[in-house]
Amino acid sequence: MQRSCIYLLGAGGMGMAPLAQYLSDQGYTVFGWDDFASDERKAKLSFIQWTASVPPNCDVCVYSSAIDQKNPRRVAAEQGCTCYQRGAFIAHLLKDQRLCVVCGSHGKSTTTAYLIHLFQRHGVPVNYIAGAEFQMDYYPVACGKYPGAITLFELDESDGTIDLFSPDVAVILNTDWDHPRHYPTEAAYKQAFASLASRTKEQVISNESFGLPASKQTAIPSASTLLELDVSAASQAFQYLTQQSVVHLDLDMFPGVRRRQEVLLKTQKLTVLSDYAHHPNELKALLQKLTADKVQWTVAFEPHRGSRLQCFFKEFVALLNQCPRLYLHPLYEAFEVNTYCDASLQAALPHAGRIQDLIPSDWLEVQQPAALAFVGAGKIDTYARHWVEQWMHLVVERFKPVEVRTHIPLKQASRMHIGGETLFACEPKDLSELQWVLHQCQSIGLDFFVLGHGANVLIPDGCYDGMVIFLNQPYWKQCALIDDAPPKGSRRYRVGAGCSLPLFVEQAEREGVGGFEFLDGIPGTLGGALNMNAGTQGIGILDRVEQIDWVDSSGQLHTTQHSELTYAYRSCETLRNGVAVSAILTGSVDSPDRIHQQRLLLRERRSEHQPNGYTLGCFFKNPMLAPAGQLIDACGLKGLQMGSICVSPKHANFIVNRGEGRFMDVVQLVRMVRSQVYNQKQVWLEPEVQLLGKEWHELL
Ligand SMILES: Cc1cc2nc3c(=O)[nH]c(=O)nc-3n(C[C@H](O)[C@H](O)[C@H](O)COP(=O)(O)OP(=O)(O)OC[C@H]3O[C@@H](n4cnc5c(N)ncnc54)[C@H](O)[C@@H]3O)c2cc1C
Repeated sequence: MQRSCIYLLGAGGMGMAPLAQYLSDQGYTVFGWDDFASDERKAKLSFIQWTASVPPNCDVCVYSSAIDQKNPRRVAAEQGCTCYQRGAFIAHLLKDQRLCVVCGSHGKSTTTAYLIHLFQRHGVPVNYIAGAEFQMDYYPVACGKYPGAITLFELDESDGTIDLFSPDVAVILNTDWDHPRHYPTEAAYKQAFASLASRTKEQVISNESFGLPASKQTAIPSASTLLELDVSAASQAFQYLTQQSVVHLDLDMFPGVRRRQEVLLKTQKLTVLSDYAHHPNELKALLQKLTADKVQWTVAFEPHRGSRLQCFFKEFVALLNQCPRLYLHPLYEAFEVNTYCDASLQAALPHAGRIQDLIPSDWLEVQQPAALAFVGAGKIDTYARHWVEQWMHLVVERFKPVEVRTHIPLKQASRMHIGGETLFACEPKDLSELQWVLHQCQSIGLDFFVLGHGANVLIPDGCYDGMVIFLNQPYWKQCALIDDAPPKGSRRYRVGAGCSLPLFVEQAEREGVGGFEFLDGIPGTLGGALNMNAGTQGIGILDRVEQIDWVDSSGQLHTTQHSELTYAYRSCETLRNGVAVSAILTGSVDSPDRIHQQRLLLRERRSEHQPNGYTLGCFFKNPMLAPAGQLIDACGLKGLQMGSICVSPKHANFIVNRGEGRFMDVVQLVRMVRSQVYNQKQVWLEPEVQLLGKEWHELL
């Protein structure tokens, strides 16, 4: 096919948008239109030139299955262009490629996404057209950049264009009857897959029986849930296509697919999910999961397509009757006309409420762990996201007079320059505001995290569903000598938790107070330093602390004297769930010149041994055996790289982001370093670096 201009009708939907991306990567000029795409959606699909009619230089138009024969734009396009239905066009487009299709009644988007993820993690070039977006847009929905590479395609059976494909490899997940409008009988539906299997040139990966010779079919290793089947199928296909094996580490880094058990909100008490289930078997799998999670669960369900509702009415009623709390969203017609009406579903489920009755304010102070699942393949996902935004708005109101901002990006807030966003953030002006914030977090069940200068915090991609507290208002930055009668030769400072540690060290030098030189070159705030017991040369800041004022998670203020503090190397148990407000630090009268010389010496040593750039300082704590950097170096790991993240060639305990590094690359590199050091030195290194909203044991 000549690479020229193509016009896509219905270009904003999940069928056409990935095709547009693929074509654009392949060098086509892509024009398009979509009556229903919002401006935001259009802006996101920046590889499409949006125009309401076919440009004069376009002679090919592709339309989605939602565009019917009478659509005026399609009618107009048919005057001057060759027009194709999406599936037919893709069959034509990919006919000369080495092609692996993923299809079946359930799980094809998730399986395709896992497969794409495996190719990416292993660095194997792959072209693909996916059928759903990755969470956080972690990977693009399509890629057509690699000439000669294998192409993965999520093949949809709903409109019959499956009959036009003859792939090299086919993953067929299951063949539970669906789309009764197109396939009036179960046999007709199954036949479509059987025919595809027989046209597949090389290998079919499936547990269904198609009467193929044994050499032409590979089974998918057994799985007890639909999700496990998807993972298993993707691994099997990846191994077949690349001859490389899959380890669980590859899989648990999977970023997730939108609307596939996607967590829209997760507080200590409330989880809100969006799920695409629209066939009885998918609904059944979701209800099993919700039951197994042992929380109070509620389902808001949107039936999808009248023809499906009518065909499987009894099954839907039986399943929905199992929901302890149920709300119904009106039927999503999906461009079908004159089909079954959902009023009968409402009548058959008298315990069901209407979706409008699901009021966000009822979910603000949940007493026991609860899950709320918005389920369906139509508009309910948009409804769910709007619902969460309303819930967030109520939360913001609850914190007043403290101003709470939402969806705050955090990438720049960590010195690693990696990370997603926080749902909520605030900057309390003083102690009473901080106490109020903590009190409200507790009553709503929101996690909180105090972020200093982010010199020791790694921020995951995605959204932290809690409150990030910044102590950066003037109140928190105070730093002053205490004007009382100190023991001879000693001087004491009261320092606010938000005071910059380098500025404090600077001030102490100016004022001739020695004993803090060991803190030179340690970036961050006093609060961060107290929590991390920051230091060098065997001394930690808590060794210089006389007392700490801090607030616990209910908002109560405490004062703890040095003798009562519980702390160790790079940790302070006393502050584990608390927020430091201020501390009294003790030094000794000294000469500014001597302090200056001492600091210069330490600074020179740092610049000689430590790299610059986006880093969090020493990544691992030093074990008893030897400094972590020495062990990593002795294992030959300096320079080890994962994406843009590497073990610094200058200092092996520094992990550096060379530009566009991602959280998962850091985690993968950390895993590699740890396992190699363990294999060679029998020591498990423990990260010193803190994680926002997660614990290292969940990841390592
Ligand atoms: C180039 C470089 C060199 C470094 N060198 C050293 C070094 O020599 N020695 C050393 O020990 N560290 C070093 N670090 C690590 C880092 O500087 C320290 O851990 C520092 O104390 C972190 O302060 P922060 O304000 O940035 O805290 P953050 O990184 O923002 O937070 C660290 C932890 O402290 C918590 N926290 C922050 N404020 C408070 C508060 N008010 N109350 C309770 N908890 C709080 C956070 O929740 C988080 O758990 C280095 C880092 C870099 C980037």
